[in-house]
Amino acid sequence: MAEKRDYYEVLGVSKDASDAELKKAFRSLARKHHPDKNPDDDDAERLFKEVQEAYAVLSNPDQRSQYDMFGHDSPGGSPFGPGGFQGVNINLDDLFSGGFDSIFSGLFGGGRASRGRRGHDVLLRHSITLEQVFEESELEITADLSTACDSCDGTGAKTPDDLQHCSTCDGQGRIMQQARVGPFVQQMVSDCPDCGATGRIILNRCSDCRGTGASTNEQTLRINIPRGTDDGLRLRHRGKGEHITNGQSGDLYIQLDIDPHPWFERDGPDLVMALPLGYPEMMLGTQVELPHIDGDSLVISVPPGSKPSETIIVQGRGMPHRRGRGRGDVTILLKLHIPEKFNKTMLSTLEEMRPSFGLPTSDIEDAVRREAQDRRN
Ligand SMILES: [Zn+2]
Ligand SMILES: [Zn+2]
Repeated sequence: MAEKRDYYEVLGVSKDASDAELKKAFRSLARKHHPDKNPDDDDAERLFKEVQEAYAVLSNPDQRSQYDMFGHDSPGGSPFGPGGFQGVNINLDDLFSGGFDSIFSGLFGGGRASRGRRGHDVLLRHSITLEQVFEESELEITADLSTACDSCDGTGAKTPDDLQHCSTCDGQGRIMQQARVGPFVQQMVSDCPDCGATGRIILNRCSDCRGTGASTNEQTLRINIPRGTDDGLRLRHRGKGEHITNGQSGDLYIQLDIDPHPWFERDGPDLVMALPLGYPEMMLGTQVELPHIDGDSLVISVPPGSKPSETIIVQGRGMPHRRGRGRGDVTILLKLHIPEKFNKTMLSTLEEMRPSFGLPTSDIEDAVRREAQDRRN
């Protein structure tokens, strides 16, 4: 197998290259050897991977100094783990936009660095009205949340002396185990069985929290409702989730559920509603006034000769756009209202109207044709 090339040589930069120089060199080489540009080219694929590996190591300050000291024979073995560098999937667009940085920063330390214990995330759902998302607003929410127990300061121990460092894991909560699999020695990190992964041993437990270190308290949270927010938005409150001893608290998510409006449906920034009108109102036209979410009344002008299933659009009276200025529209769908019950007077009036407003059955075929034509145009 060919000797592994020096990372600086791979990127074509000097040993004291700056971060910007490294990035520039990586970007141009990665573009050149990208598989999308060199389909079915094994050489290009190998070079692409080589460039990635070199950049992954040199763009990480810890890894770079390690490499400067030991070269490819770092005492800890390959920084990428026993399998060596596996290559990462970067698309060409990311190479132009710089979206690849996070891919490389996530490569090291995964699995080896103990992230410690973490409490569960908690989801709280809160109902708000459409009016409340019309303007950016603040809201106070009171909820029972998990916090550190007051009596023991979240330690779970009766007194500070009841709290001891776990000697099995040296307070780490995790232990390294070696397992022999054939000729190989495998190292595994697992939770310490003696302290339940907490790194601590409690001799006498706090009676208030029974050693959990957590208690539930009513808390008031201030939340900010963004203007024009969508249904189901989740706001995160870091560290307000489940509290655990000797670990990181989980996060609290507050989900904003928007109650259905009595008549509006929402379509992004637009509002949609149906308006029932009687036959005379459709024929003669009318003006309708409704209370509206912005506090002013919504005036809908129905022109004479309107037809059912036609729409009227009132511009700029919908919901505010989430980004930028302005508001969406209100779309009003016209529906024909037919009374449920008729009395004799109504029926005789209609009978009188029939000759002038009705559609004689003899003309029906023509009318059907015209309707189809209009519909298709
Ligand atoms: Zn332990
Ligand atoms: Zn306690």
